[in-house]
Amino acid sequence: MAEPVPFFEQVNRYFDRAADLLDYPPGLLPQIKACNAVYHVSFPLKRDDGSIEVIHAWRAHHSHHKLPVKGGFRLTSHASEDEVTALAALMTYKCALVNVPYGGAKGAIRIEKEDYSVAELERIIRRYTFELVRINCIGPGLDVPAPDMAVGQREISWMLDTYTALSHGEVSSVACVTGKPVSQGGVRGRVEATGRGVFFAIREAVSRPDDMKRLGLSTGIDGKRVVVQGLGNVGYHAAKFLAEAGALIVGVLEREGAIYDSSGLDVDKINNHRVEGGSLLELGAEEKLDGPNGAQGLEWDCDILVPAALEGVIDTHNAERIQAKIIAEGANGPTTSAADTILNRRGILQLPDLYVNAGGVTVSYFEWVKNLSHLRFGRMDRRFRASNRAEMMSAVESLVGESFPAKLFDKVAVGASEEDLVNSGLEETMVEGYQEIHRISGELGTDLRTAAFVNAIRKVATAYQERGIFP
Ligand code: NAD
Repeated sequence: MAEPVPFFEQVNRYFDRAADLLDYPPGLLPQIKACNAVYHVSFPLKRDDGSIEVIHAWRAHHSHHKLPVKGGFRLTSHASEDEVTALAALMTYKCALVNVPYGGAKGAIRIEKEDYSVAELERIIRRYTFELVRINCIGPGLDVPAPDMAVGQREISWMLDTYTALSHGEVSSVACVTGKPVSQGGVRGRVEATGRGVFFAIREAVSRPDDMKRLGLSTGIDGKRVVVQGLGNVGYHAAKFLAEAGALIVGVLEREGAIYDSSGLDVDKINNHRVEGGSLLELGAEEKLDGPNGAQGLEWDCDILVPAALEGVIDTHNAERIQAKIIAEGANGPTTSAADTILNRRGILQLPDLYVNAGGVTVSYFEWVKNLSHLRFGRMDRRFRASNRAEMMSAVESLVGESFPAKLFDKVAVGASEEDLVNSGLEETMVEGYQEIHRISGELGTDLRTAAFVNAIRKVATAYQERGIFP
């Protein structure tokens, strides 16, 4: 059996495929592709029973073409230098693609969260943050971490608190990390942002009549049958927004197994059951797969498959058997480059990770901007706009001599809240992002992933060229 291709090499294969379509001065494309720095730190953890364990952790800076660099950090037992480097590279291309002004970074701590007490986890995160401070890998203008696998607001708050304690009164220290609780300087809408972005990405893709006709699907989300892998932050919210728009979530895959029901599953019920410690296999469904067999659920009959858990889950072993007509990559790197070739040959529409899950970093960018301005979005103008609109509507009423229905009046005469503005900015970003890659894919006759890489590489190249580093 062929050796598995390292994750960074997988990303670079996608890069090379796009680079073949581009013409730049010598040296520029290799500079964009190279990872600028990877830091490996190890430190001792005193466990609750008094024993000592050595913890390994990483932070990769793929590209310093813009600062700060940005990217999440994850807690996982398979963390490695290769994994963070690949994920940091994806962050560079993702940020460029959706016009978020950062270089790409990623971090990881090699632990499985469930194996540690809360107190141990807090010690690990605080020490990791301290190590990042020492190597200049955290700070509002240097490097701004965010949540990724197994990291939520609690871990981000520990990171913020540790950085702030070490930052000697730096006025914008709160911008050192994103994904914070709102009370700690977070922005409304960040928790669900990546999943909401996945929803917008799918909504854009299924709105194109020609593309849907080619796939034998109708346009629109209503009635589409969806299988989701991973009911975590990204997968749960994506499934929830899709279901709210009329999609049927027919399959859910999690660590303990997978369930399928052609009449649709209740995502909130599954999520609540799991949050309380239950297994999805305990819930009613037409079909069940337990343990590692759950991965076979990727091959279930559906219109849209949303892998939102791990990398490398669609490979040469299952790519021929995938029945979905559309794959929307909520996770980073769920499809190997060899599988990608098979899926393209089979005419499956792949919506690539660097576009589909860009909603997270987009709203993280809004949070960072909010922190640097020290002002909640909408605070200055919400009331002004609401009263301005009310005055305009009253003027129209007196001109035409009729009143708007009270409900309509109240609906229109409002100003936007922070959440409204964040969601609107996210929607604009995802719609514009799709329009760009769809146009490029048409112009170059390529798949959407190659188009996304072409678009991202062009933008990073421009940043280098306009700084005079390359002709
Ligand atoms: P998460 O930890 O909240 O959720 C991951 C889920 O996958 C968990 O519910 C976990 O139990 C499940 N899972 C783990 N192993 C599995 C397996 N073998 N089969 C099925 N399910 C399994 O993580 P997340 O933040 O939702 O991240 C998921 C993916 O999305 C990752 O690839 C991450 O890099 C990517 N991503 C996350 C964000 C974000 O804002 N959180 C942004 C962009 C991309």
